[in-house]
Amino acid sequence: MSHTPVKKSEGTPKRKSRVSRRNFLYTTAAGAAALALPGCRKSEPPVLSTLAGEFDPLRSYPYRGWEDFYRKIWTWDKVVRSTHSANCTGSCSWKVYVRNGVMVREEQASDYPRISKDLPDYNPRGCQKGGCFVEYVYSPQRLRYPLIRTGARGEGKWRRASWDEALTLVAEKLLDNVYNYGPDTNTFFSVIPAMSPVSFCGGSRLAHYLGGVMLSFYDWYCDLPPGEPLTWGVQTEACECADWFNAKYIVLWGSNISQTRIPDAHFAFEARYNGAKIVAISPDFNSSCMHADLYWQINPGTDAALAMGVAKILMDENLMDVPYVKEQTDLPLLVVTGTKRFLRESDLKAGGKEDVFFVWDTKGGRPAATPGSMGSAEKSIRWSGVDPALTGSFQVKLADGNTVEVTTVFELLRSSLAAYPLEKVAQLTGLPAHEIQTFARELGTRKPAMIIHGAGTNHWFHNDLANRAMILLVALTGNVGKNGGGFNHYVGQERIWPEHGFFELAFPEGRKKQRFQNTTLWSYVHSASKDPHQYNGKPIEWYIQESVKNGWMPLWPTGGRKPRAFIVWRANYLNQAKGNEVLETSLWRDLDLIVDINFRMDTTALYSDVVLPASSYYEKVDLNSTDCHSYIHTFGKALDPLFESRTDWDIFQALAQKISEVARRKGLQPYRDEKFEWSRDFTRLADDWSGKGSIVTDEQAADFILSHSKETKGMTYRNLQAQPKRFVATDEEAWNSDIEEGIAYTPFKHQVDKKRPWRTLTGRQQFYIDHPWFLELDEALPAYKEPIPEKFPLYWNTPHGRWSIHSTWRDHRAMLRLQRGMPIVYMHHDDARKRGLRDNDWVRIFNDIGQCICRLQILPGEKPGRVTMYHGWEKFLGFQQGGWQSLTYIKIKPTQLIGKYGHVNFRLNYWGPTGNNRDIKVEVEKARVKA
Ligand code: SF4
Repeated sequence: MSHTPVKKSEGTPKRKSRVSRRNFLYTTAAGAAALALPGCRKSEPPVLSTLAGEFDPLRSYPYRGWEDFYRKIWTWDKVVRSTHSANCTGSCSWKVYVRNGVMVREEQASDYPRISKDLPDYNPRGCQKGGCFVEYVYSPQRLRYPLIRTGARGEGKWRRASWDEALTLVAEKLLDNVYNYGPDTNTFFSVIPAMSPVSFCGGSRLAHYLGGVMLSFYDWYCDLPPGEPLTWGVQTEACECADWFNAKYIVLWGSNISQTRIPDAHFAFEARYNGAKIVAISPDFNSSCMHADLYWQINPGTDAALAMGVAKILMDENLMDVPYVKEQTDLPLLVVTGTKRFLRESDLKAGGKEDVFFVWDTKGGRPAATPGSMGSAEKSIRWSGVDPALTGSFQVKLADGNTVEVTTVFELLRSSLAAYPLEKVAQLTGLPAHEIQTFARELGTRKPAMIIHGAGTNHWFHNDLANRAMILLVALTGNVGKNGGGFNHYVGQERIWPEHGFFELAFPEGRKKQRFQNTTLWSYVHSASKDPHQYNGKPIEWYIQESVKNGWMPLWPTGGRKPRAFIVWRANYLNQAKGNEVLETSLWRDLDLIVDINFRMDTTALYSDVVLPASSYYEKVDLNSTDCHSYIHTFGKALDPLFESRTDWDIFQALAQKISEVARRKGLQPYRDEKFEWSRDFTRLADDWSGKGSIVTDEQAADFILSHSKETKGMTYRNLQAQPKRFVATDEEAWNSDIEEGIAYTPFKHQVDKKRPWRTLTGRQQFYIDHPWFLELDEALPAYKEPIPEKFPLYWNTPHGRWSIHSTWRDHRAMLRLQRGMPIVYMHHDDARKRGLRDNDWVRIFNDIGQCICRLQILPGEKPGRVTMYHGWEKFLGFQQGGWQSLTYIKIKPTQLIGKYGHVNFRLNYWGPTGNNRDIKVEVEKARVKA
């Protein structure tokens, strides 16, 4: 086709436009009518030329071929089911469309079976990030080949390497470390098994057979609610989101579900049609608060004060479920007034047990042993012929002949709640006193009631105290263990439903033969991090030393040695690390080898030595599950891994083979690992890793997990590719309720309905922790403690946001277009005015730790006295200096270092110090930046 240039004044003679508004509306209506004409029916492709005469707005348009182009967008060669693995908690099943060997788009699969006609269903689920993932697959950030660093770390200078060269380099270094420095100098970091367990297990199996250290993630990212292990003896157990619909009272407490639980927020908002009232508690007026019946703009960090004040009203006004409290909690248990320790069997008789406890039986007028504690022979918590007193003080004769006074946990709690009168709580929280009172009365009378809890309150230094105070509210009112009730915490896909099969695959010789490490502690000790605060007059180093010496927390490598190699996959350690500037110049600098396995060039990859390209979410076989629903579904290979990428499973298999090859070539003798009395023959590592050839492919690995778990009995990867399936049962070793037909999953029915002991020292929901450090630091009971004092005026708030899942999608073109395209800090206009700042100014945010420079956005919904930057911005993504973690540092809470206390023991991602970061404060000023 040839085109003749047309001068501006030439071309088709202009006709007088006859398109008046009236004509336009008429044209539109006629256009709609034309869809009923031949050529516009569903059976025939629509042809715009059927628009005739003066109504065709395209009549004079020269080239109409694009119409066909648009039609072809909606054609495809094949559709494959897959999902996303970014720890969003969504776990949404998607269909990926492929045409001519190219992934062209994705669409929500919408075929989750419905639980019950009485509950809204899970279809369709998804979010805007998932809806544009296909662009990531082909984006410039995509890693295509193995890379070996040629410049300084972070400089971005690389050379392309072959897989063989890159794997040989890594294998030789890992073996060198084992033989010369010890296997505990090789450290492995990956996160959130439930989002892609096969990928996780590829690396964990290698760590296992190498004797390496597996780091935790859930505590490090401060997503672990430590109050749950303390009170319930579980890592986290929450109801699935369909159960929100059963609630009659929903408290969104520091959880912005409209932004962070996009596929599930509807269950809460639809619950209002089912008679629910919603209360939103958040310092900023966010997009979830607008759906609430009551919104409270609470002062940051005062949530525990509010909870304690409400608990006082519940007690004072007897708005409690007393039979529930007597049976299900430790509040009737006796405590020796002088020592503040529980009265134990060992106090009452020689040779008595340390883990048998007592209540005061009002019928018999004497102490009675509580059934169901860790030392009790009875496996039920049901009271039989005993009526425990909740109040009062009593005299008890001890084994040594002395008589002491004892009282109940309830009495101790009641006296500690006296410190939270209504007016004081109103003043601390900044909330109206009469509304707090109304809230308490509603919470005590509207059943069932639940708290939906998130990172907002959980990321404070005293997160455990806040968790415990909130759990107290739903326990006093008898809401835990009931559909529509409870304290439901959602921050991440930390827990995998088919747990048994997962652990068998992840650590084949058993978890007792694996080195595990809390990452907060590891990062602090092996870097130049320094917490300047004193705790009860002692630095945190004192508590760390004691904890490690007592065997409460492990610390690898032992004996003051430094970690030497660091392997990261499915994670962005450096970008997301608290105090990452300090880590970069100490821990990071000291590592000899950093390997990142990734599908995109993120900050950790950029600062690594070797980068291995992983397949994207649409080029792998894996499984996916979440706390938010009770289904499992799959990743699928829409295409084989693109470029030179490989699946995580295949990468670790290739690395295992390379290690065996190097060990054979070097003639290495088996390494005697004394810790486990294990002679590690690395020439056989590949064979061990693949289960003697029985688990070679990722599909075999997925089937291994499914076939070794009660939850997924009868399921295979192939039949899950057809449709998501609901779990068929729960493993009682791991879960606290059954999967029930037609009923949404909610935890702790085993305890409430079947009277099984809680997984705690006392066998009850345990609000009293009589460990010496808890007593010394005055935290035996839930309490409010002020945030850690910092000298700057503005709280630094870095919550989960709407336009990324952590750092994934932060650099996505489509998501950047929904914001201002670069990191922004939000500030209330009063704070901005005080500092002479205007919207879109460049600002410097600083404190004694560091600084960052970015743009300012004025946000009326922000709380004065606080600034917010949604987290996850890559360090290289638009900051003029620094990054969002440049202002933070690692603070370890002493009480989170304890162990060997009944149910409170170190376990990976269950108990260990959290990497909190909400107590940080900053100042903001205008920055001079060249435009
Ligand atoms: S990113 Fe998460 S929430 Fe969004 S669609 Fe994917 S799985 Fe669902």
